Amino acid sequence: MVRTVLGDVPPEKLGVCDAHDHLFISTPALPGQALDDAEAALAELTAFAALGGGAVVQWTPWGMGPRADELPRLSRRSGVHVISATGMHQARHYDRGELERVRGRLAELFIRELTSAPVQAGMIKVAGAYHRLDDHARNVMAAAAEAHHATGAPIGVHLEAGTAALDTLDLLCRTHGVAPDRVILGHLTRFPDTRIHRQVAEAGAFLVFDGPSRAHQATDWRLLDSLAALADAGHAHQLLLGADTVTATARSGADGPGMPFLLAGLRPRIERELGTDLACAIFTGNPARAFAVRWRRP
Ligand SMILES: [Zn+2]
Repeated sequence: MVRTVLGDVPPEKLGVCDAHDHLFISTPALPGQALDDAEAALAELTAFAALGGGAVVQWTPWGMGPRADELPRLSRRSGVHVISATGMHQARHYDRGELERVRGRLAELFIRELTSAPVQAGMIKVAGAYHRLDDHARNVMAAAAEAHHATGAPIGVHLEAGTAALDTLDLLCRTHGVAPDRVILGHLTRFPDTRIHRQVAEAGAFLVFDGPSRAHQATDWRLLDSLAALADAGHAHQLLLGADTVTATARSGADGPGMPFLLAGLRPRIERELGTDLACAIFTGNPARAFAVRWRRP
């Protein structure tokens, strides 16, 4: 079952999925740029639904303003399944006191958000550092692995600028015993090293590529080639796509392509250039498998 903000649903009910996005997010690292407008979030979801969108996975972790209490209403109003996240981002996205308060009980916190919070999370989000895993990342990933083993929840990884993918898999899978197909690596679009893409795919992880954004224009144009190379190498069943809108200006209602562009812009190109089977796998079949869990707790 996929754990959505309205309860567990069978994976085949998700439909067309934006596998990495944000309806709400705030961080001291981006002052004045918080996504905290519920009506703007609803407008974006509604625009996504109008194009056939069925599900959105919000990768906003604990402490970064995920507004989990708002998500059931937005899901009901838009008709879009919403999956929310627990977990923790890099230390720079928190104030020190807040981190201190939860130190040593992260796994417990993640498990509670996955299994007994009023609005339950369906995944655990963690983050690496640039080309390495710092102590904070290692601690958070250890707690995420513990919460994964207790619940079955998949682990989604913010790879900083797409880097440290192999180190992350080594830590989560080899050190902490997480099955590779329970790991979803994000932001590989931003580091289009085809050899590393191939190696993480061979290891068995899911790869979620990002939709276009101004910040990542330098690498965004390689998306279709990256998808094609991985599909040709036999990894079509491991590829996902998300718009990952993190600022208000990235939304379709403002100046950005936003969530709708995944379906109005990227999907037709993927269908035309890479085939409808691959498009269907990326938007529907793969996310259903990536986020489906045999939950070990209610
Ligand atoms: Zn994100």
